[in-house]
Amino acid sequence: MSATQVEILESVSRFLQRSHGLYIDGRWQESTAAGRMAVWNPADGRQIASVADASADDVNRAVNSARHAFESRIWADMLPAIRERVLLRFADLVEQHAEELAQLETLEQGKSIAISRAFELGCTLNWMRYTAGLTTKISGRTLELSIPMPEGARYQAWTRKEPTGVVAGIVPWNFPLMIGMWKVMPALAAGCVIVIKPSETTPLTLLRVAELASEAGVPDGVFNVVTGQGSTCGAALVNHPAVAKVSFTGSTQTGKQIARSAADRLTRVTLELGGKNPALVLKDADPVLVVEGLMTGSFLNQGQVCAASSRIYIEAPLFDRLTADFEQAVKSLKVGPGLDASAHINPVVSLAHQHKIGAFIDEARASGATLLSGDAGPGNGGFYVAPTLVVNPDAGLRLVREEVFGPVINLVRVADAAEGLRLANDTEYGLTASVWTQNLGQALDYSARLQAGTVWINSHTLIDANLPFGGMKQSGTGRDFGPDWLDGYCEEKSVCVRY
Ligand code: NAD
Repeated sequence: MSATQVEILESVSRFLQRSHGLYIDGRWQESTAAGRMAVWNPADGRQIASVADASADDVNRAVNSARHAFESRIWADMLPAIRERVLLRFADLVEQHAEELAQLETLEQGKSIAISRAFELGCTLNWMRYTAGLTTKISGRTLELSIPMPEGARYQAWTRKEPTGVVAGIVPWNFPLMIGMWKVMPALAAGCVIVIKPSETTPLTLLRVAELASEAGVPDGVFNVVTGQGSTCGAALVNHPAVAKVSFTGSTQTGKQIARSAADRLTRVTLELGGKNPALVLKDADPVLVVEGLMTGSFLNQGQVCAASSRIYIEAPLFDRLTADFEQAVKSLKVGPGLDASAHINPVVSLAHQHKIGAFIDEARASGATLLSGDAGPGNGGFYVAPTLVVNPDAGLRLVREEVFGPVINLVRVADAAEGLRLANDTEYGLTASVWTQNLGQALDYSARLQAGTVWINSHTLIDANLPFGGMKQSGTGRDFGPDWLDGYCEEKSVCVRY
């Protein structure tokens, strides 16, 4: 083993060997379905575990357990300060198991252990504690009224926030633990109960934290995990009549399907969907800052980040210099397994995803676009994709218009900032964007004119628990994070008193 290779903890090996069931009503339960789903290690293409492929009956059992817990009011009526303390204890337990969870995440998802430690655990813990703190800040308003009848009557009114009920959380595979906790924590802080379904590709870490939630004192039935396919288990969950709110993160295609089925029952939905995020580099930008910021903004987690910059529009005077600098940066990246802490780029999540990204690259190559690629990675059966720059691709190519979700970015020369802005906004998505300039006026103007839920000035992809996040256009509806985050998990009730 090399000095930079991480040694797997005994607790991780033991967890992988378990026969994983479903976490319902505070305990492990068997699925009624015979089938299992394999979990693969993207670094070598080998199976590391298997999990239950839950049936609609299993989902029904989980939702009924959640409904029962909600109706008992055991969680919603707990004093907010006590609920907060339970959630803080939950965060402490996740922190105590941080290395175990980071290793599990790298093993199932492929990402660098450094990213698992810093983001899936480090940032998740910040989010968990931030959200736990919101438990004691739920508040309404008092309202003055002008109701004129009957004569002489007076009124006083206020609003109160009440937990919505049973939440269905549906999670993608790119940040399984972090995004999972972006659903669990606000739901629980608001007094809701949750049934969460991780991606079929990356189910392990959410299963592990379910036990920690119980250990922290989250009552039975309040936090349930079902594993299974999207089209069966996921669909049964979002269509269950007892589900009051769906919090979905994933592709725009699946998000639309969920919105359509939620419409039938007017189930509340938050949709955090895909992005095809532009970076607009103006001619006065600092080239060193641009390359440093957009290498991270584009290649973090192999580009499998909804917010990642993937279309970089550069004003003509800086284009050649920046293309050369990006090429040098990409060629210096070491490609290797996530458990090798010295590797910068790691495998993508699955064989199917590797093939999908390959098809985008092949199409660009066939069109005659210039491709500048780095290291292709070890040829050991792992799902590697070489980090790649596509220079001045044809604007109609799929890789310009669709989300690749891989280590592939486009560099495009634009005559001036106005052309850059037009091309940046020429997309059906609106998740994130960035503008790079040293001119304050330009920075403010372009941050207002870029059509995206989040715009960064001189950085990209960096998010924070206190900064609302979500999409415009086809990138979703609703906002996560920030001081108003729990509003998405509450009903606002108006109370009016005559006196
Ligand atoms: P996906 O849409 O294929 O799957 C997401 C989840 O939905 C999985 O758990 C899947 O099993 C489930 N699912 C699939 N069909 C379903 C159905 N009919 N009913 C209910 N659930 C169903 O997405 P993915 O490939 O796992 O994730 C990548 C996508 O997620 C990208 O498009 C990325 O941009 C997006 N994403 C968005 C954000 C954001 O905050 N906006 C964050 C991360 C990822």
